[in-house]
Amino acid sequence: MALMSMLVDTSICIGCKGCEVACKQWNELPAEIKGFSGVSYDNTLALSDKTWCHVGFVEQGQTPSADFRWLFVSDRCKHCAQAGCLEVCPTGAIYRTETGAVNINPAVCNGCQNCVSACPFGVVSLNHDTGVANKCTLCSDRTEIMGREPACVTACPTDALVWGDRDEMIALAEQKQTRLHSNGVRASLYGKDELGGLNVMFVLQDEPGVYGLPSNPQLPQRNVPAGYVFTAAGAVLLGLAAAVTFRNRPSQPETVEVKEG
Ligand code: SF4
Ligand code: SF4
Repeated sequence: MALMSMLVDTSICIGCKGCEVACKQWNELPAEIKGFSGVSYDNTLALSDKTWCHVGFVEQGQTPSADFRWLFVSDRCKHCAQAGCLEVCPTGAIYRTETGAVNINPAVCNGCQNCVSACPFGVVSLNHDTGVANKCTLCSDRTEIMGREPACVTACPTDALVWGDRDEMIALAEQKQTRLHSNGVRASLYGKDELGGLNVMFVLQDEPGVYGLPSNPQLPQRNVPAGYVFTAAGAVLLGLAAAVTFRNRPSQPETVEVKEG
């Protein structure tokens, strides 16, 4: 099977959150209204174990003013070619599918949360009810078993989300960039090369940081060995404490036979 990718064109996203709702419907995820933040009209605010697709609202400039503009970005797991989550998973629960999606097998996940800290995009969350890590699956069940596109792509009314062969998505993104540049819009493609190539790429109208995307995402493995050292040191200390406790434990009283009669 070919490597498949999603292209997110922020220049034609209207922030309707249809993709967010479609994701919840297809994956049977509960609603999660976090309330009015006071800084944005966005009421879901972030990705979580129950929100695998989140439409971020970026409000630039003062209202009312001619400079004010809304920027919207439909965000999810990027299904990275170099996936930090996959590399640090100690049980092999995180795997790559034949079209390039990075998924989590809930039966094998032990809830250690190494993947949560290894993801440079803050995508993975632990579901505290099930004890299993959760995130977008790129609708592998639809795309690889049913031959359909991801639910969010189907729901998008403006075609801001497009699904297809990765090379075709890059060519489409470059066409979009050329058109936007000819209209005086500062457009860039994010995800073509980052972390070996993301399988969710973005046409952006501003710097990645404006949309909450790191400009130079890195594999965080260098932090993980330190975590293992602390874990190992903790295990050794616990072992020593247990040994001392057993050694100092008072000996069992002798049993006394009670004779009947
Ligand atoms: S975005 Fe994060 S969770 Fe998704 S594949 Fe990359 S490292 Fe893993
Ligand atoms: S459905 Fe399309 S237009 Fe609506 S928020 Fe999602 S990406 Fe934007």
